[in-house]
Amino acid sequence: MQRLVLGNWKMHLAAGETAAFLRDLLPRLPRRADREIAVAPPFTSLPAARAVLGDGPVALAAQDVFWEDGGAYTGEISPLMLQELGVTYVLIGHSERRLHLGETDLMVNRKVRAALQSGLRPVVCVGEQEEARASGRAPSIVRAQVLRAFDEVPRADADRLAISYEPVWAIGTGRAADPPAAAEMHDLVRSELRRLFGEAGAAIRILYGGSVSARNIDAFMSAPGLDGVLVGGASLDAQEFARIADFEAHS
Ligand code: PEP
Repeated sequence: MQRLVLGNWKMHLAAGETAAFLRDLLPRLPRRADREIAVAPPFTSLPAARAVLGDGPVALAAQDVFWEDGGAYTGEISPLMLQELGVTYVLIGHSERRLHLGETDLMVNRKVRAALQSGLRPVVCVGEQEEARASGRAPSIVRAQVLRAFDEVPRADADRLAISYEPVWAIGTGRAADPPAAAEMHDLVRSELRRLFGEAGAAIRILYGGSVSARNIDAFMSAPGLDGVLVGGASLDAQEFARIADFEAHS
């Protein structure tokens, strides 16, 4: 399966900074058939990013989407609006949205289904908080997040789904999970995906996210069952993100 390296810029790189950043980044990126690279700028930077990326190999992602195609939903952005800008992937249920904006599993599910209907490819973020990990509840929490996110998602759409397992305590902290521990959670997510989607569940990419850096990327990509990475902070440094995208998997 082709791995996915997705940079989540969060609320960084405004429209005026986007073109210069991408012009610096693009020539540094590897062209290797076994991996796909994507960037997720803030909504307002998407057109500037599209202009530089053109029809090239780096895909465009958005950081969120609403579940209606239009209407009286002040401040929201619809799947159709993203599609019009040439967006391919959309992050859904990032832990920062769950934490700061009260995003629930039900909202995540509505967004996933709406995104699929418009031809977007959802990347659903799941992961446990520190306390849940300490008390051994991480597996049940992550399992429930996966099941709820994909409730009533047709099996025929499975090939357009991806998951990012992101332990909340590892995001933006510099304290990445141990690759073998991440691999265990990926295994659990994979079993749920198979239960939900049958054989099609075997082809859904499961990324790892949480303090991925140039230093640890090769270890993550060498762990069994990790189909890519969601990179936050390190995706804002062109040299570091390029090194991450140029990972070597030793297995
Ligand atoms: C993220 O934003 O999804 C993320 C994993 O952030 P960081 O790489 O900075 O931990």
